[in-house]
Amino acid sequence: MPFRRGHDARRRWRLSAKLLVAASVATVLGFSAVCAGVMFDMRRGEEQLARRTLENLASGIEADISRNIELYDLSLRAVASNLEMPEIRSVSKELRQLILFDHAATAKHFGAIQVFDSKGDLTIDAASLDPQPENRSDEEYFTVQRDHSDTGLYISRPMLHRGAYAIVLSRRIVGEDGRFLGVVVGSIRFSYFHDLFGRLNLVPGDTITVLRNDRTIIMRTPFDLDVIGKNLADQLDWKSENLKIGGAFSGRGPVDDTARLYVRRSGNGPLYVVVGKPLEAVFNLWRTEAIRIGAIMGFLVLFVLSATLVLAREIVRRGDAEDRLEELATTDALTGLKNRRKFDAEIDREWRRASRYGQPVALLMIDADHFKAYNDTYGHQAGDQVLVGIAICISDAVRRAGDCPARFGGEEFAVLLPNMTALEAFNLAETIRGKVQQWCEGELITTVSIGVASMRPLAGQQWSDLIEAADKALYAAKANGRNQSVLATAPKIALVA
Ligand code: GH3
Ligand code: MG
Ligand code: MG
Repeated sequence: MPFRRGHDARRRWRLSAKLLVAASVATVLGFSAVCAGVMFDMRRGEEQLARRTLENLASGIEADISRNIELYDLSLRAVASNLEMPEIRSVSKELRQLILFDHAATAKHFGAIQVFDSKGDLTIDAASLDPQPENRSDEEYFTVQRDHSDTGLYISRPMLHRGAYAIVLSRRIVGEDGRFLGVVVGSIRFSYFHDLFGRLNLVPGDTITVLRNDRTIIMRTPFDLDVIGKNLADQLDWKSENLKIGGAFSGRGPVDDTARLYVRRSGNGPLYVVVGKPLEAVFNLWRTEAIRIGAIMGFLVLFVLSATLVLAREIVRRGDAEDRLEELATTDALTGLKNRRKFDAEIDREWRRASRYGQPVALLMIDADHFKAYNDTYGHQAGDQVLVGIAICISDAVRRAGDCPARFGGEEFAVLLPNMTALEAFNLAETIRGKVQQWCEGELITTVSIGVASMRPLAGQQWSDLIEAADKALYAAKANGRNQSVLATAPKIALVA
């Protein structure tokens, strides 16, 4: 393979171009991964911040509701426990009103407390000394207390109560003997919730939902009468696993299709609060930033990759150019064989390799016979053609990879044959000589004389010794009458038979 060196170099160049592409793809992937990681962390940060804000809002609202219910419940309990005293029945109506009802229960959003007896008939009303007859034995706030002695404070579904939407609270009244004496009933009007939510500075889209522990919606803002009183037991998204105490989840609520981050804070009171914020609003800032960084990243990736491709192409192009240059610099222009410079380098390399492995190196020195006369007769250009013809005959005969046929100078050629014995080399020389003779048919007969030498390098020997031996053999061939191959026989060199 005459251009082995060149091929190696090309492969090396192509490898480095591939390495460049692989390195920049790896870098781009690495940077993208880091960038994606940072973006992901940013997103999580935004979510945590929103969650904390919503948690704080939920706790504030829940605390307000719990405190009011507790306050009102204290009044209900006071009525219930005072009614247990038998003496209360003997005092006047005015005095009884004063004993039973404190002023806490007359706060703005609280309805007047009423007492119903065990049949559900209204007996005492904080709003009037002589109330109109009323029976509430069908209402749930009555029946639950009547039928279950351990209910404690009952909170009703939202309902129309005494002309206004309200939630009704009731407590059981028991006699000294544990007998059911009736219920004490109060109400918290919806105006309380409207007032409470109205004080908050809510962003449109945010929602606050107040739920009873059995997941009935008591109140919601924005206000929607359709969902008030609805039980969420069969709601897909708002199932209890999603809204655990102190939990949060992203999904759809019971009213609209907007995806929100919903947060529930605690569950100690009789009511709990779920606060929701549209995911759109939660991630708005993040999304803008993500798009900006993503666009910059995308641009950089494109830039780096295209710059890499351009560079890689340039590397390959330069590699090819260097290969071509090297080929030019080592090739003889006329014959296409290796030139003298390349031959010297090759023989040096092969000589050292042969001495390392103890292998023979053979050399043919080929010289055109009577070439001066040929030139003189047919002209220099015709002579050149003959040299080209001889070069083709040589290349034709020399086929092993690693063999190096070269133009040694003028009308003289050299063929370096690594790891070849003298006999093999001699046979090859004869083949070449035969080819040249065959090729020059007709009157224009050109012949070559060939000196053959093969040596196994010994310590202290140089490759110039091999050239000298082949040269001597060539002279012998000339002296013997030309058109023949002669094997070197110099006694001081070790010939390989
Ligand atoms: P011998 O058989 O002894 O080798 O005789 P010769 O005439 O070939 O030997 P000599 O060394 O006297 O002549 C070599 C000639 O080769 C001289 C020169 O004109 C010719 N020559 C050398 N290089 C080239 C070349 O590149 N082209 C041509 N056409 N002729 C060349
Ligand atoms: Mg010569
Ligand atoms: Mg000659």
